[in-house]
Amino acid sequence: MHDIIIVGGGIVGISTAWQLRRRHPGKKILLLEKEPRLALHQTARNSGVIHAGVYYQPGSLKARFCKQGLEDTIDFCRQHGIPYNQCGKLLVATSAVEVQRMEQLRERCRQNGLDVVQLSREELREREPNIRGEGALLVEQTGIVDYLKITEAMAEQFVSLGGQIAFGAELTGIGETTKEIVAQTEQREFKGRFLIACAGLMADRIAGLQGLADDFRIIPFRGEYYRLPPALNTIVNHLIYPIPDPAMPFLGVHLTRMIDGSVTVGPNAVLGWKREGYGRLNFNVWDSWQILNYPGFWKLCGEHWKSGMVEMKNAWFKNGYLGEVKKYCPQITLGDLLPCPAGVRAQAVLRDGTLVHDFLFKQTPRSLHICNAPSPAATSAIPIGEYICGIAEQRLVG
Ligand SMILES: Cc1cc2nc3c(=O)[nH]c(=O)nc-3n(C[C@H](O)[C@H](O)[C@H](O)COP(=O)(O)OP(=O)(O)OC[C@H]3O[C@@H](n4cnc5c(N)ncnc54)[C@H](O)[C@@H]3O)c2cc1C
Repeated sequence: MHDIIIVGGGIVGISTAWQLRRRHPGKKILLLEKEPRLALHQTARNSGVIHAGVYYQPGSLKARFCKQGLEDTIDFCRQHGIPYNQCGKLLVATSAVEVQRMEQLRERCRQNGLDVVQLSREELREREPNIRGEGALLVEQTGIVDYLKITEAMAEQFVSLGGQIAFGAELTGIGETTKEIVAQTEQREFKGRFLIACAGLMADRIAGLQGLADDFRIIPFRGEYYRLPPALNTIVNHLIYPIPDPAMPFLGVHLTRMIDGSVTVGPNAVLGWKREGYGRLNFNVWDSWQILNYPGFWKLCGEHWKSGMVEMKNAWFKNGYLGEVKKYCPQITLGDLLPCPAGVRAQAVLRDGTLVHDFLFKQTPRSLHICNAPSPAATSAIPIGEYICGIAEQRLVG
C-alpha cells in the first residue's frame, strides 16, 4: 500500500512528488507516468519563460503562485546549478488601443505588487534598437530557463530520497472506497491512501474516471513557433511581447530569447485536433469528437470565432504570422522564420464556453485533481506543489 500515488510526470506532478517526499521521508510515494520518459508534453514544449505575474487577476491563485514561483524557481536553479537568465521582458504597445491597454496592465502590475518601468518610444528604442513601438512596460524580473532541466533535477531528488517512478504506466481506472484508493493501469493496479492527478492535457479524462469532469473539458490549443537564424540571436536584449487582448487567455506572438542562446518567434494559438499531436496535420478521431460534441466548444467559437479565424489563417500562411511580429520588429523577413517544434496547451473550458483562466482543482475524499494548469504553471510549479502538499497532508491526517 502506497501513502500517495501521483499521476503525471510533468513539472507539476514531479514538483509535488519531490516536495511531498522531502516533507515526509517515511511515506511511500509512487509517481505513474504513461510515457517512457518525464516531461514529454507541455513541460518540455513551452517558451521557457519564468513569468513575473503581469497579467493575472489580483487575488487569483495564478497571481499568487506566479509571484512566489519566480522566486522559488530562481532559488531552485541556483541550488542545483541550472542555467537561468533574468533578462527582463518588454511589453510593447504598437497602437493607440494598445497604449490604453498598457495603462491597464500597469495598474494590474501595481495591484499584483510588481514593479514595472514605463518606457517612452525613445527609451524603448535606446534599449531595443530593432524594436518599434509607441512605448513599453519593462518587467525586469522576468527570466528564462529550461523547464525540462528543472523537472529532471526535481525527479533526481525525489528518487534519491526514496520516491518511486513507474514509466509506461498509463492510469486507466480509479476505484475509491472509504479505506483506500486503487489506481489501475494496463499492467497492474496500485493501492494507496491518497491520489493526486497532474495529467495536463488528459486532466479531464482522469478526473472523469471519478465523475469530476461534467462541467469542464480540456480543449487543446497548439502553439506553433519559428526559430530565427543564429545570425539574429542578438536581435533583442529582452523578451519582446505584444500588449495582449485582455479577452484572450494567450499572450500573443512574442520574441523569446531561449536559454540555449537562440531566439524563437511565437507561439500562436490554434485549435489542436490531437491532444498530444505536435505536427500541423495531426488528427485523432476520439480527441476531435470530444471537442466537437462539447457544447462549451461551440459557445467558445461563437464568442471568439474572429480571432480563431485569424490565428488559423496565420498558421497556414506564414505571411500572416510574420505580420504579427513585424508590428514591433519590422526587420524580420519570411526567410528568417525557420522551423521549430510546436507545443499543445491544455486549456479547460466550462460548459457555457467560459475559458478557465485560473488553476482549477477538484477533490474527492481520497483524491485531488489539478484540472487546469495552464501558463504560468511551469513558473508556478513549486508553489502549486506546496499547495497540493498542504491538501494531501490534511487529508492523510484527517
Ligand atoms: C506552447 C506553450 C508555451 C508555454 N510557455 C510557458 C512559459 O513560458 N512559462 C510557463 O510558466 N508556462 C508556460 N506554458 C505552460 C506550462 O508549460 C504548463 O502549464 C506546464 O508545463 C504544465 O505542467 P503539467 O505537469 O501540468 O503538464 P504536462 O507537462 O503536460 O505533464 C502531464 C503529464 O501527465 C502524463 N499523463 C497524462 N495522462 C496520464 C495517464 N493516464 N497516466 C499516466 N500519466 C499520464 C503525461 O504523459 C505528462 O507527462 C506553456 C505551455 C505551452 C504548451
